[in-house]
Amino acid sequence: MTDLRASSPVPTLTTITVRNPADGSVAGTVPVDDPDTVAAKARALRDAQPQWEALGAEGRKAWLLTMQDWILDNAEHLTDVLQSETGKPRTEAAMEAPLCADLLKYWAGNAARFLADQHPSAHSPLGKVKRLTTVYRPYPVVGLIIPWNFPLLNVALDGVAPLAAGAAVLLKPSEVTPLSAVEFARGWSEIGAPRVLSLTTGYAETGAAVIAESDCVHFTGSTATGRKVAVACAERLIPCSLELGGKDPAIVLADADLERAAAGIAWGGMFNAGQVCVSVERVYVEAPVYDEFVAKLTDEVARLRQGQDGNKFEFDVGAMATHAQRDIVQRHVDSAVAAGARVTTGGRPTGVGTFFEPTVLADVEQSMSCISEETFGPTLPVVKVADEDEAIRLANDSVYGLSASVWTGDLARGERVARRLEAGAVNINDALANGFSFSLPMPGWKSSGIGSRNGGPDGILKYCRSQAITSPRLPTQSREINWYPYSRRKTKVFTGVIRAAAGRGWRRIGRTPRQS
Ligand code: NAD
Repeated sequence: MTDLRASSPVPTLTTITVRNPADGSVAGTVPVDDPDTVAAKARALRDAQPQWEALGAEGRKAWLLTMQDWILDNAEHLTDVLQSETGKPRTEAAMEAPLCADLLKYWAGNAARFLADQHPSAHSPLGKVKRLTTVYRPYPVVGLIIPWNFPLLNVALDGVAPLAAGAAVLLKPSEVTPLSAVEFARGWSEIGAPRVLSLTTGYAETGAAVIAESDCVHFTGSTATGRKVAVACAERLIPCSLELGGKDPAIVLADADLERAAAGIAWGGMFNAGQVCVSVERVYVEAPVYDEFVAKLTDEVARLRQGQDGNKFEFDVGAMATHAQRDIVQRHVDSAVAAGARVTTGGRPTGVGTFFEPTVLADVEQSMSCISEETFGPTLPVVKVADEDEAIRLANDSVYGLSASVWTGDLARGERVARRLEAGAVNINDALANGFSFSLPMPGWKSSGIGSRNGGPDGILKYCRSQAITSPRLPTQSREINWYPYSRRKTKVFTGVIRAAAGRGWRRIGRTPRQS
């Protein structure tokens, strides 16, 4: 029998149909850009970028603030689009537009200061003859590849800083949720801003083309894809920053306010149906309060209302983004239960769309996949620990290091524990809080990333190449002593001067201590 699979050509998809995962309804379509299309978009960006850079930070600020107004004026529509492609509850969808406006304000207001020329003092007295300047010049085209969990917010989280830096941005949203990025790009064009933001949609091949056409890449997404992106950037010798997966621990110490810890961890674990890079993914609780905490957490999670609420603000927990994502959650729950964990609430798909019940797993062991692998879903596995030291050891026993939280009645103790955790951020008596503080860096340690976003100057300077400029402070002669022609006498003079500035004690004048 002929193997039809071998002989039939694989159809090339030219469009992506975007569906609402809550009910399967069609939310929209976008094209699949091939590498030639991506290259043409990058060329257009390259043409437009020099003028954008020449506007200076103050000139760009005006456009970023106009975009901020557009986002706020269109917030309701943006929220509708977000819900249509994610199945998020209204409250969670409604947060993204104002947070985008906040990011636009942050970078618009601070870019000029962060990008200002630096005039470092000379490292040696000899250097004082020069005026030293460090200038920050943007990479012309920054490629931005983002995931599906915050389709609008991720555009601003990673896209505003390079624009503020003076770069042009080639933006590739996830194939799962491209429609909010389409809206963002529409807004940029509707306000009449220079054409330095270009959207390209498609799958992995389109993402690879973005890397091929960019001068610098920022990637937010899974660790597995991030590794491929890093390799592709290394091949081209271009820099990349990576914000990747996480498995964030929460440590509940016996002196914690258990009411707040349970409520905060429930929110930190279930927000966006657990599809947050910094969501609480595992909980370590000191033995004396373990049972009480599990009971309170179970109570909190069991009370969550789940469903599709349109614009009615009725539900707390929405759909998973894809069926594949829901299946990972199911696998982690099933294998934990098979290994002896106890479901205290939830534990199953609801049977509607991609919804999975908010779930608490008790009596969990460190060896289970729900502890070692990123779940990215609405589950909270809880592990009993003997004490603070064991909690820290198990929390650090992970390939990931994105963020963590510590719940305690003693803030000094919380800070001590925080400084022993291998994580890019630690929130004390709160969850996800660092993500809303743009003046703090958001770095991923270990397999959670390379580099960081936000956090003052670092968050924008990563999109810039530093340039060193020297110019004379004193009148110059026709030639310097270290220029041609070389001679013994001149060499002695100038190496002697360098030695005098560089050395200590007798060595400064060419003697060793023994000779002296
Ligand atoms: P993903 O890695 O599957 O996809 C991310 C993006 O990469 C998509 O746009 C995709 O089309 C593109 N892509 C896929 N293969 C590519 C390739 N070979 N070359 C170039 N681009 C390619 O991630 P996802 O499933 O969309 O998102 C979920 C993951 O993102 C989770 O692991 C989550 O923890 C992580 N995430 C991290 C952060 C953070 O700040 N650290 C924030 C949000 C999400």
